[in-house]
Amino acid sequence: MTGSSRMPVSLRESFNQVKRRRPTSLSAVVNLDLLRNIIFLLFVLRWTRRAFWQLRGRGIIGSLVELYRNIGRILYGYFLRAPGVRGKVQKQVSDALAKTEAKLVPTNLTKYLTLPKEGLSDDDVRKELEMLANLDHTKWEEGYVSGAVYHGEQDLIKLQTEAFGTFTVANPIHPDVFPGVRKMEAEIVSMVLALFNAPPDAAGTTTAGGTESILVCCLAARQKAYAERGITEPEMIIPETAHVAFRKAGDYFKIKVHRVPCPAPSYQVDMKAVARLVNPNTILLVGSAPNYPHGMIDDIAALSKIAVKRKIWLHVDCCLGSFVIPYLEKAGFESQPFDFRLKGVASISCDTHKYGFAPKGNSTALYRSAQHRSYQYYVSPDWPGGVYALIRMGDNGYLDACGKLVGTAKKIADKIRETPSKNLNIYDIYDGMTTKGWHLNALQDPPAIHVAVTVPIVKVWETLMADLESVIEAEKEKERARIAQGKGASKPVGDSAALYGVAGSLPNKGVVVDLAAGFLDLLYKT
Ligand SMILES: *Cc1c(COP(=O)(O)O)cnc(C)c1O
Repeated sequence: MTGSSRMPVSLRESFNQVKRRRPTSLSAVVNLDLLRNIIFLLFVLRWTRRAFWQLRGRGIIGSLVELYRNIGRILYGYFLRAPGVRGKVQKQVSDALAKTEAKLVPTNLTKYLTLPKEGLSDDDVRKELEMLANLDHTKWEEGYVSGAVYHGEQDLIKLQTEAFGTFTVANPIHPDVFPGVRKMEAEIVSMVLALFNAPPDAAGTTTAGGTESILVCCLAARQKAYAERGITEPEMIIPETAHVAFRKAGDYFKIKVHRVPCPAPSYQVDMKAVARLVNPNTILLVGSAPNYPHGMIDDIAALSKIAVKRKIWLHVDCCLGSFVIPYLEKAGFESQPFDFRLKGVASISCDTHKYGFAPKGNSTALYRSAQHRSYQYYVSPDWPGGVYALIRMGDNGYLDACGKLVGTAKKIADKIRETPSKNLNIYDIYDGMTTKGWHLNALQDPPAIHVAVTVPIVKVWETLMADLESVIEAEKEKERARIAQGKGASKPVGDSAALYGVAGSLPNKGVVVDLAAGFLDLLYKT
């Protein structure tokens, strides 16, 4: 009998374990090397994959152009910060901001910078509100504003105000305390889903605005891809013209954003470029119906095909299209598929506060299935007065509105095509229209003005055209005078012409960023 066999079993076990462990420490050294190699290999593999997808997505020339632009932007950024230049740029920015401030922030009013010691009387508050409502402003009431107020008729405003009155105290986070609010929100979602031909299992939520609808849909797409496909480096492919909220979602939720050109003449997203950019990390495709800059609808059917084939989430941004696009066909206008009838469409954002005519602060995020929606779940639903607008208008109300709005837009387009004018600076025309009291929207890439036709505009579109004609005539006159004086003569430049003139010619838009940030600061200036 050997000593070890006389040992208790448990002791023998641990003895054997010690014996077995000895060579392990030697192999640990070897393993460490192996581990290092594996990590290095993974690293190389990862970057090779990235380079491969980059080259496949943008091509060699496209990638070089991208690189060239990035370098240009960085170098120009240094130039802007160089001594001598920096001061001049800052001076120009602050001059521009001072001009805006003079227009935007009144100086002759009583200011409440801290709480009054004694609360104001009800009557004083009423007086104060009345005064604020009547501050000098662009006349949306008379139809001088593009977008912003989509209905604005007194009878609807009155009913919405009553609805607000009835539910002022409501806190939607307590559905048991305010069951009526819950019911309204559920029904808003149901009505809008029906409008977009959603399948029976579809679901949605209300949100506080289009941007939030887009954010939550992007988040849901990311979460679904993570949960079901384990994607940790998500990417999305969006048209260059897609709403800025998608870029925001990319930044907020760490989703890499590929922007795809939308070339003339269709201004739709380039489908070939989209297809090339799809890779295993792609979690989301986006199409607009229509986009904000040009009002064009992307080829949603083609996007849907890719989405189905590659099993990717497709989001359709119908925030602006809201209740007009779904009524186009019924109202007898040309239409193209854009909604849940296309199998690839996983989610749609629709702003009830735009052409749904609900008060601002009301939008919807719609999903193909309740399971899709489950990936969103964090939401701060806003006040739901919208339901009153929705059922007050009814199906025929929206159909009627669609006819008037789109009909007017077509009349405006036809009228402009009748007398085309060339060689004028569009931003000069924009500034001229501003002087005449219009609040239109200036765009870039390409330079343009857009007018979102609303119910108030329908009534004054002829004034809009007359003013446009006279502004164009005045611009032509200035141009003729300039040519008579010799080509070199300069003419005075308006605010937007100056801003977009500068912005368009710069490789680095840092100055524009400064201006925009300064503008946001102004919004909270007392
Ligand atoms: C208005 C709009 C949105 C959302 O904007 P909100 O102001 O946040 O409601 C999104 N996409 C498009 C195309 C829009 O016009």
